Amino acid sequence: MASIYDGVVSDDRELFDILDRELERQNTTLQLIASENFASRAVLAATGSVLTNKYSEGYPSKRYYGGNSIIDEVEDLARRRLCDLFGAEHANVQPHSGANANLAAYLSVLKPGDTVLGMRLDQGGHLTHGSPVNVSGQFYNFVSYGVTASDERLDLDQLASLAAEHRPKLIVAGATAYPRVIDPEPLRRVADDVGALFMFDAAHIAGLIAGGVHPNPVGIADIVTFTTHKTLRGPRGGAILCKKELAPAVDKAVFPGLQGGPLEHVIAAKAVAFKEASTPEFARYSAQIVANARALAGALAAEGFRIVSGGTDNHLMLVDLRTFDADLTGKVAQEALDRSGITLNKNTVPGDPRSPFVTSGLRIGTPAVTTAGMSEAEMAQIATLIATVLRSPADEALSGEVREQVGILCSKFTPYP
Ligand SMILES: *Cc1c(COP(=O)(O)O)cnc(C)c1O
Repeated sequence: MASIYDGVVSDDRELFDILDRELERQNTTLQLIASENFASRAVLAATGSVLTNKYSEGYPSKRYYGGNSIIDEVEDLARRRLCDLFGAEHANVQPHSGANANLAAYLSVLKPGDTVLGMRLDQGGHLTHGSPVNVSGQFYNFVSYGVTASDERLDLDQLASLAAEHRPKLIVAGATAYPRVIDPEPLRRVADDVGALFMFDAAHIAGLIAGGVHPNPVGIADIVTFTTHKTLRGPRGGAILCKKELAPAVDKAVFPGLQGGPLEHVIAAKAVAFKEASTPEFARYSAQIVANARALAGALAAEGFRIVSGGTDNHLMLVDLRTFDADLTGKVAQEALDRSGITLNKNTVPGDPRSPFVTSGLRIGTPAVTTAGMSEAEMAQIATLIATVLRSPADEALSGEVREQVGILCSKFTPYP
């Protein structure tokens, strides 16, 4: 296979051969991890550019090193495009990741020990929303809300009563494994009722917001954080949007509070992605992500899987395996599917009796396969392939057969031909 690194003059075959094999894996197997995507060649090119060589601590026109006038143009362009994309007053494009963006947001408005409301990890929240193994849970007093037992949707009543009881300084919305729309308006009202600030972590759904298929929290939340590499389809990284009043605190928290020199090559790639995300094509792409997720969830339900909350409004679904096979764990399912060329991750389902290393569920996402050009017809095929493997997860010959069918399907939808 021709390499997308062709033209790169390097005698380091040891490393570039490994990259070629990863390219082949991405081109020939199904990528259904909800937080992954295929960035454009323009994004990859900017990420691999000479900007990797430059030190530019500080912000445009306030740098600690010389030689930054061109770098300033890059970062200004990225900030301007990002503010335009989401209608924000201020943007910080320097966070190295979503986790860093969240930590910087906390650092900008909280003191150690302050009380914060966040979604529980095992109900769909993220590690950085107060997990005890994460710095967020060690420096701040997080109180967790979750989903209802009945419809498995955000439990707003619980959230409001926890807010009234604990009087948090900050309420954090957003999730990593939640398949429904998160409407920022009712959360804003709860925050206002108790005098809390409101932060919306849109890591997973930033692309759906940019594409206009999910409500935009910018202007409603005080701070919005997100990653640039999930549905937004840019380089790996994070960003923060906030109201003007919070801009100095947010910028100070990112640098010098948390990070050193920014990754300007990645910021350049973010600028590319923000432009791509402002196009009508991207709006159509976002709508297709959701249409594909609905089609896949429907087809999996028809195969006997229980879809958590009964379906999906976004790019992902949580599959409860227990109705399909009470003994099948997420761990075994993930491994059997991996052998079959279907890449996804095990995930706890709400109220899961199994540990996070075993789990009773799978998380499946459609951003990457949608970028590859697949639509509803392919989702039906994928559901059949998944069910075929999971009916006999120990059958390695069957995995080999499915792997071949996956190869045929992917050959028609190659992300990097
Ligand atoms: C992915 C994610 C993050 C962290 O992003 P990284 O770039 O992996 O650090 C933060 N919050 C939520 C809700 C996420 O889904």
